[in-house]
Amino acid sequence: MKLQEYRSKEILARHGVPLLAGEVATTPEEARGAAARIGGPVVVKAQVLVGGRGKAGGVKLAATPAEAEQRAREILGLDIKGVTVRTLLVAPAADIAKEYYLALILDRAAKAVTIIASAEGGVEIEETARTSPEAILRLPLDPLIGLQEFGVRRVGFFLGIPAELRRDFASVLRGLTDAFFGTDADLAEINPLVVTQTGELLALDAKIVLDDSALPRHPELEAMRDLNEEEPAETAAREAGISFIKLDGTIGCMVNGAGLAMTTMDLVKLAGGEPANFLDIGGGAKADRVAAAFRIILDDPNVRAILVNIFGGITRGDEVAHGIVEARSTLEREVPMVVRIVGTNAAQAAEILRQANLITAESLDDAAAKAVAAASGAPGSA
Ligand code: GDP
Ligand code: MN
Repeated sequence: MKLQEYRSKEILARHGVPLLAGEVATTPEEARGAAARIGGPVVVKAQVLVGGRGKAGGVKLAATPAEAEQRAREILGLDIKGVTVRTLLVAPAADIAKEYYLALILDRAAKAVTIIASAEGGVEIEETARTSPEAILRLPLDPLIGLQEFGVRRVGFFLGIPAELRRDFASVLRGLTDAFFGTDADLAEINPLVVTQTGELLALDAKIVLDDSALPRHPELEAMRDLNEEEPAETAAREAGISFIKLDGTIGCMVNGAGLAMTTMDLVKLAGGEPANFLDIGGGAKADRVAAAFRIILDDPNVRAILVNIFGGITRGDEVAHGIVEARSTLEREVPMVVRIVGTNAAQAAEILRQANLITAESLDDAAAKAVAAASGAPGSA
């Protein structure tokens, strides 16, 4: 789950990272009020969960409250990479002397949380990563010891932090690290971290991405979720207790168990098809959950066929079969469905599916082949 800049800043501030917090506004008038309370020049910033807001015109300076209102009017409603801006952050403007990039990421290849730092911070960091990777430091943290003093110094020297700011830099890096581990994040990023004309170190932008699997440990962070920017299908899946990840193919998969879902996707690919999603309906799937899963799958207009693969253990096959038949009658869109149910009460399940005229399959290979044929509209397949 990605957190908006103002939320990420809230968390960093709590961990002692110096920044100019500002106020959230949703109308031009509120932005004006915020600017008046702040006093002096402000920066008006679109709060959307996509990068490159600056380049897209979503970050603007304003010298007066009236100008802040005007800038807010320009930014609200703006479309940034497909997301409409509804919320703004109005913060005191900083006079930037130098911009740095500083982040912690969970680097799966390095099997370690890794510090990423560059003295070429700002809006061109992706370009820097491509053209001059040597300008970027990657420092993996020892998983048992974490951030050590020499690590802080190494990053500070690499960035060329001025001597008088090294202590402040240490608290920024420590604060960022504490925020990362304290929230179970996958990413905690400050870009840019700046030195101002008056020699202050400040985090001007912040981005925290949380590990969804750790969210149950952080109810206060769950409350920071921005439903405005979540795929409706993902919201529906989460609320129904279904693990769902949208993909780009045409074959919707409804499976119980994450391992079986992965296997099913592999076999769809082996049969020459492309899965439209990963979907684990979970244990003991009842009719309403099956129906929710179908709606989520069919919400994707690319889906041309659905492959249902259920292994009945605790989950009873006949109950799932009933669920499928019931759910199918409530669906708005019809696509061919191939169903494989094995395990507990498989025979009863097969009978129910046969009576409902659903395509069934004995083996998983067979099911995948039938689904691929159905999705490509092969004659006689549906
Ligand atoms: P992003 O484009 O989504 O990463 O948004 P940022 O918050 O990083 O803003 C983009 C750029 O706008 C920064 O790299 C700065 O150069 C500039 N910017 C942001 N805040 C301020 C500010 O307070 N003062 C000045 N002068 N520039 C700012
Ligand atoms: Mn930024």
